[in-house]
Amino acid sequence: MAERDYYEVLGVERGAAEEEIKKAYRRLARKYHPDVNKNPEAEEKFKEINEAYRVLSDPDLRRRYDQFGHAAFEGANGQPGGFDGFDFGDFGGGLDDFFDMFFGGATRSARRRGPQRGADLRYDLHLDFMEAVFGVEKELDITRLEACPRCGGDGAEPGSSMTTCPDCQGTGQIRTVQRTPFGQFVNARTCPRCRGEGRRAEQTCRECGGQGRVNRRRRLKVKIPAGVDEGQRVRLAGEGEGGLNGGPPGDLYIYITVKPHELFRRRGNDIYCEIPISFVQAALGDEILVPTLDGQARLRIPEGTQTGTSFRLRGEGVPHRFGRGDQHVKVKVVTPIKLTPRQRQLLEEFAEVDTNAEVKEEREKGFFEKVKNAFENRGRSAQ
Ligand SMILES: [Zn+2]
Ligand SMILES: [Zn+2]
Repeated sequence: MAERDYYEVLGVERGAAEEEIKKAYRRLARKYHPDVNKNPEAEEKFKEINEAYRVLSDPDLRRRYDQFGHAAFEGANGQPGGFDGFDFGDFGGGLDDFFDMFFGGATRSARRRGPQRGADLRYDLHLDFMEAVFGVEKELDITRLEACPRCGGDGAEPGSSMTTCPDCQGTGQIRTVQRTPFGQFVNARTCPRCRGEGRRAEQTCRECGGQGRVNRRRRLKVKIPAGVDEGQRVRLAGEGEGGLNGGPPGDLYIYITVKPHELFRRRGNDIYCEIPISFVQAALGDEILVPTLDGQARLRIPEGTQTGTSFRLRGEGVPHRFGRGDQHVKVKVVTPIKLTPRQRQLLEEFAEVDTNAEVKEEREKGFFEKVKNAFENRGRSAQ
């Protein structure tokens, strides 16, 4: 990534005062915070802003940057030095927590609590092998907090007027004074009565008791697309927990687990299975029916097939966006355990004319292979 000038990123002059940089940063961070800005480029931009701010807000780092530019921070891994990489993805708390993290709790208490996005929810869904392969429609029963339909989420009984909260006199904070041998300390915490709002309704909403949200059981119809696999997740936008104070709802993430199949194994979009054939089929060749995801398919076994040979059935694998994967059929030659007298007689006759040529060849190949490997290993260790 070509790095832009940090001052340019924050849109300030090179000689900008600390306060100015801070202000510019907060304005941009609000604009590009991924909670607010759903534009795909916003995430990159947000990271860039953070990086610029972290350097320019630290007098020492800023001095080095002014002198050497980006080269001042090139560490061994190419990351700017002085701080660890910051990943906003680790930080699920949303915009408020974000500002708490950077500026201490002060901003939160100074601001009225605005709309807050609801939390994301997780649902673990277990699918049968075939359901994952071909997709399925499922009904999920979930219980979630939703914005109260009666008050619209503000906790006030409709028609009730708003008054200044008597507990905090409209400041949204409760202050307590603590006396200690070292002096007085003032503690401020968010007023529980108005939830930091500073105002409260004369009557709280009958439906939610002033909480703004209510628990609801919901049955959701979900279309699981064909080809999902173990460990993947399906996102249902807006089906998470309801937001606070008119904020948008979170998302619901469906985590997929898939039960194994007794016959088929799956790797990506390809299907693997093992089919037993008789030694006669292997020697003479045959056409057999093999089970597939859709039913069965014909597979020609050529004359002289060895055990462990794999055959590919094109397009018999898992459906995906651009077509279907393949099925790989591995044959396992089964040696007969019980022979009838007639079979025994025929095999004995066969043994009389059999030269064992292939077996000899295999054995010799194996022998020379081992000798060769031994030499190669010796050569390597001698170097
Ligand atoms: Zn309500
Ligand atoms: Zn209050």
